[in-house]
Amino acid sequence: MTPPTLHLVTHMGHDGPWLLIKTAKEIRKRRAYIRTQKPEHERALRLRLLKIVKAPLPPQLFKADAAWAKADAAWVKADAAYYKASAAWDKVINSPEGVKFHAQVCGCAWTPEQPDILRQLEPSS
Ligand SMILES: [Zn+2]
Repeated sequence: MTPPTLHLVTHMGHDGPWLLIKTAKEIRKRRAYIRTQKPEHERALRLRLLKIVKAPLPPQLFKADAAWAKADAAWVKADAAYYKASAAWDKVINSPEGVKFHAQVCGCAWTPEQPDILRQLEPSS
């Protein structure tokens, strides 16, 4: 999947960072939110100051942006590894070995097919 084009945008919020990097979709959503959800007397100012910047970044900002992009890429990679490990964990704790371990250390009526422990509140018949 191709990553979306990013834009520099000013004043997405009223007191947050004055300059952010956002997708066109995020900017459209924010503008729509301002038009519909923000107090009417704030809307014109908010919309006027939320601008897409076309000027190139000054060197120091460019450097910080590159560092941010690098950290973001590492985060995306780590996030994918996290989800993969999390899925593997879910699979293994519900495997026959995991179920056997549950019986050994807990022994309640939980099963992978009936994982909601609160059903054990129901009176047994
Ligand atoms: Zn249990």
